[in-house]
Amino acid sequence: MYGGDVPITPGMRRYIEKNDEYLARRSRYIRDVVKKWRFDTIAVHGLYSVEEAIEDYQGAIIEPVFLSASQAYRDSDEMAAALAYLIPTWCYSRIANPSTYYYEWTLALLEGYGFDGETSACSTSSGMAAIMTAVQPFLMHIRHDPGERRNFLATAQCYGGTFQQFNVRLAQERDVECRWIQDPTSVDEWASKIDENTRFLYGELPSNPQQGFFDIRAVADLAHSRNLPLIVDSTVATPALLRPIQHGADIVVQSATKTLTSSGFGICGAVIARKGLATSIPNEDLKKDFALYIKYLPNRDYGPNLHPMQAILTLNDMRTLRSKMDLMSRSTMAVAEFLQRHPMVESVEYLGLPNHPLHDLASRYMWLVDAEHDELYRKPVNRYGHLMSFCVRGGAEHARKFFDGLQRIWRATDLGRIKSVATIPAISTHQQQGEEGRKLAGIPPNLVRLCVGAEHPDDVIADLDQALAGVKRK
Ligand SMILES: *Cc1c(COP(=O)(O)O)cnc(C)c1O
Repeated sequence: MYGGDVPITPGMRRYIEKNDEYLARRSRYIRDVVKKWRFDTIAVHGLYSVEEAIEDYQGAIIEPVFLSASQAYRDSDEMAAALAYLIPTWCYSRIANPSTYYYEWTLALLEGYGFDGETSACSTSSGMAAIMTAVQPFLMHIRHDPGERRNFLATAQCYGGTFQQFNVRLAQERDVECRWIQDPTSVDEWASKIDENTRFLYGELPSNPQQGFFDIRAVADLAHSRNLPLIVDSTVATPALLRPIQHGADIVVQSATKTLTSSGFGICGAVIARKGLATSIPNEDLKKDFALYIKYLPNRDYGPNLHPMQAILTLNDMRTLRSKMDLMSRSTMAVAEFLQRHPMVESVEYLGLPNHPLHDLASRYMWLVDAEHDELYRKPVNRYGHLMSFCVRGGAEHARKFFDGLQRIWRATDLGRIKSVATIPAISTHQQQGEEGRKLAGIPPNLVRLCVGAEHPDDVIADLDQALAGVKRK
C-alpha cells in the first residue's frame, strides 16, 4: 500500500468504488481486446481508444499532450483518495500524467507481447534514468550488517554511460561492488560471481557497440534459483525483435531515445517489469508491481521523470516500429555482407552474419515479431537489428581517415536513427572510461560503430565504399 493514514470517509469510498469499476473495465478491455491484437495494432493504438477519446479528449485521434503540471479535484474527498493513491490520479506530472500514461501502457504491452503474465512500465527522462531507476531499489539496505558490501553482476560489454554509472557512481562513490561478467555466454561465470550479498544480475544484449549476447533463459533461471532478478537492457533489439520478459527476464530497460524514437526527437526512457518478480528484498510492493512501485515512491522522490511532450513524440515513432526494424535489419545485413568482403575491413561484428560466433545463440532469440502473420513471410524469420560494428584495416589512423571521408552517413554519437549514423567509440562514447575500461569492454581504437537507417542500402554501401577507397589515397 502506498497511501498515508487518512481515514476513509464515505465520500472517498464513493470515488474509490467508481474508480474500481473503471479499473475493472480497463482490465477487461486489455484482456478481451488489446491482448488479442497483433503487435502492430498495439503499437498504433495502445490503450487509447475511440470511446476514451470522444468521452474525455474532444475526439482527438492522436493522444493529446497534457502540459498541465497538475490536476484539480472536485472536492476534498477526491483529493484525499487520489493523494493516498487509492484511485488513479494525474495529481502532479512528476508522478503521473495522461500523456506519459499512454506511452507507458504501449511499451508495457509491446514488451509483454507473447508473454502470458502481466507487465507494467514506468517512463523515465532518459535511458540512463531508466537504468538508475531499475537498479537502485535493489541496493537498499536490508540488514544492519556494517561488514556487508552489496554487489551485483553486469556484462562488461555495455553502453559507455552504463559502465560509468556502475563503475564510478555506484562502485567508487557508493561502495557497491560491480562484478563484471567477461564472458556472458558462460553461465558458470555468472554463477561463480553470485554470493549472499548479490542483489541483481544485469545484462545488455545485443550490446552496444560490440554485439555481445547471452542465453537469457539460462541466466534468468540461474538468477531465479538464487531469488534474484535479471535486468536486461534491450535498447538495441527493441520489442519488435526481442522481448526478454518472455524468456524469463524480470525487468527491461529501454533507452527509448534510440530506435523507439527513430526520428531523433529527444531523450526518453522506460522501465518495463513483469509483475511478481524475483528478489531477496523484503518489500511486497516492489515484488508485486515493480514499475508501479518505482513510479509511486522512488521516482516521486528523486524525480527522473519524462516530459509529456516527449512521451507523445516517442509514442508516435513507435507506431511503425516493426516494419522499420524489418527494413533496417535487412539493409544492415546487406551492408554487413558488403563490408565483410571489403579488403580494407579487418572484421565485421553483426549477429546476422552466419560466421559470427554468437549467430546461433542470437538466432534462438531474435525474431521479427509476427513474421508468421506477415503477407511477405508467412513464417518466422530472424532479424538482427540495425546496429553493427567493424574494424578498419590499418589501425586508428585509417579508421579516422575513413570516418572523415563519409559523405552521406552522419558522424555522430548516436544510434537508432532513421538516418544512417556512424561513430568511433574509442574517441566518443567510450572515451571517458579510459584504455583499461575499453580493453575490459573490448573496444579497439579502429572500431567503427554503424547504425544503418532507412535509406536504400545501395546508397549506404556506395558511401562506405567511397570512404574506404579514400583511406588509401594520400
Ligand atoms: C543510449 C543508450 C543508453 C542510455 O540512454 P540515454 O537515453 O542516452 O540516456 C543505455 N543503453 C544503451 C544500450 C544505449 O544505447
